[in-house]
Amino acid sequence: MDSSLDSSLNARRRTRELKLVAEERVDVLVVGLGATGAGAALDAASRGLSVAAIDAHDLAFGTSRWSSKLIHGGLRYLAKGQVGVAYESAAERGVLLARTAPHLVRAHPYVLPLTPEVSRRQQALVMAGYRLGDALRTAARTPRRLLPGPSRLTAARTRRLVPALDGGGLRGGLLSWDGRLLDDARLVVAVARTAAGHGARVLTRCRALELTGTGARVRDELTGEEFTIRARVVINAAGVWAGGLDPSVRLRPSRGTHLVLRPGTLPGMYAGLHVPIPGERNRFALVLPQPDGRVHVGLTDVAVDGPVPDVPEAPEEDVRTLLEVLNGVLEAEVTREAVAGAYAGLRPLLAADGRTADLSRRHAVLAGDGVVTVVGGKLTTYRRMAQDAVDRAAELADLRAGRCRTARLPLVGAGPAPRRPSSVPERAAGTWRRLTERYGSEAGAVWPLVREHPEPVGLGLTEGDLLWSVRHEGALDAADLLDRRTRIGLVPGDRQAAAEAAESAIA
Ligand SMILES: Cc1cc2nc3c(=O)[nH]c(=O)nc-3n(C[C@H](O)[C@H](O)[C@H](O)COP(=O)(O)OP(=O)(O)OC[C@H]3O[C@@H](n4cnc5c(N)ncnc54)[C@H](O)[C@@H]3O)c2cc1C
Repeated sequence: MDSSLDSSLNARRRTRELKLVAEERVDVLVVGLGATGAGAALDAASRGLSVAAIDAHDLAFGTSRWSSKLIHGGLRYLAKGQVGVAYESAAERGVLLARTAPHLVRAHPYVLPLTPEVSRRQQALVMAGYRLGDALRTAARTPRRLLPGPSRLTAARTRRLVPALDGGGLRGGLLSWDGRLLDDARLVVAVARTAAGHGARVLTRCRALELTGTGARVRDELTGEEFTIRARVVINAAGVWAGGLDPSVRLRPSRGTHLVLRPGTLPGMYAGLHVPIPGERNRFALVLPQPDGRVHVGLTDVAVDGPVPDVPEAPEEDVRTLLEVLNGVLEAEVTREAVAGAYAGLRPLLAADGRTADLSRRHAVLAGDGVVTVVGGKLTTYRRMAQDAVDRAAELADLRAGRCRTARLPLVGAGPAPRRPSSVPERAAGTWRRLTERYGSEAGAVWPLVREHPEPVGLGLTEGDLLWSVRHEGALDAADLLDRRTRIGLVPGDRQAAAEAAESAIA
């Protein structure tokens, strides 16, 4: 049997392990299976600790699926003089790109167009920042072959990379490279499965009702049954919901909205765009072409008060603001009709005075009565956040844990890209390439399902992909498939069109 399949998550494994966790006492209970919680489960399990990790909904249900998908070197922190935070980002970017997830994270070029609104002084400052960022890359030992350095582009080359740009008055562009996830939710799924492969009991649809100091009261959200998970220590990685479980934690969430533009809206766009936000010194909107032909435009930063919703809404005013910024640099206007969908996420920022855009993105690890809460930070640094949380948890509960191993532990699917085996015919070479891009070294295991079930479901995926997610990636219902194992659900029309196929894959 393919050893990677030990990491398979599915309904049958959930039922079996749910029974076991109610009977045993684990070393570590992790609450929340976003990037941080999944990372903590992997960190603890790979140090030889027994681990249960639960989520009230699904893997990547929270903020982790609403990101801009940048695995970034922390340029913004550099600009604010937070060199330590920037270095940590650059180091973690290198770990993902080079060792743990090269199949999920790629280098991607970004262009800052030098429009008449960008002064020569601002241009010089931005370029100096890019050079510093490149120096951090060197310090973090990420080879230039994985992440090229910055350069100045002519106007013609700038428009070749982003043909929709307004050429009038364009002096050229500044080109920089950064890491980028193909899909943030799939990173979480890969981390959670890798944790499961190290023996962690990864259980979705299990809500922590209360942390007791010796574990948690938990409700199985599928049956309504309540039970206790006993643990030597609990890691609270519930993101923006962390304060609900640990009242000593005060968060000030901030909303970030992205638009999803229909394929073909900005044709031929190869590089991402950094668009300076008028009136702001150091903030840029991001325009990111996606592998599926859609283009994402982000992102706002608005403090939100009041109860934290399960799924935040993207308000119309955010949509208008983003379109306005985008249209400021384009030749032909992108209209509201080109916006096929919009999504919003809440940053789990620690409360402090000041604008949320200025709050530090550094993470915090707070230890209390049998509970370690880990909040803040970012997707890029999930591994480091997990390491710090598990270090603190081991100390608090006096656990005999080995040293952290995750900086060298490849995630499920990492490894040399497999060559097309003879069982995959020449005429299926395109499908094989798609599978290697999406599943890395697991492509060969997915292929038989895709061959047997080639019916398209959207975004170039097939019913076979959905079946793979049900059997190995822990999808329990159609929403898991449409919204987190694939991102078909980002556009309501596409979601509706694929709903029947998703239901039948579950059945
Ligand atoms: C708009 C936006 C863009 C961003 N872009 C980037 C980016 O490009 N690059 C980057 O590095 N970072 C980015 N970030 C930051 C990054 O996305 C977050 O810091 C990160 O995803 C937080 O992950 P998390 O695991 O801590 O929280 P979450 O992903 O929110 O996970 C928390 C989990 O806890 C579960 N949960 C809650 N309560 C309970 C309970 N009682 N019992 C059980 N489970 C529970 C939830 O269901 C959820 O799945 C962005 C953030 C936003 C908002």
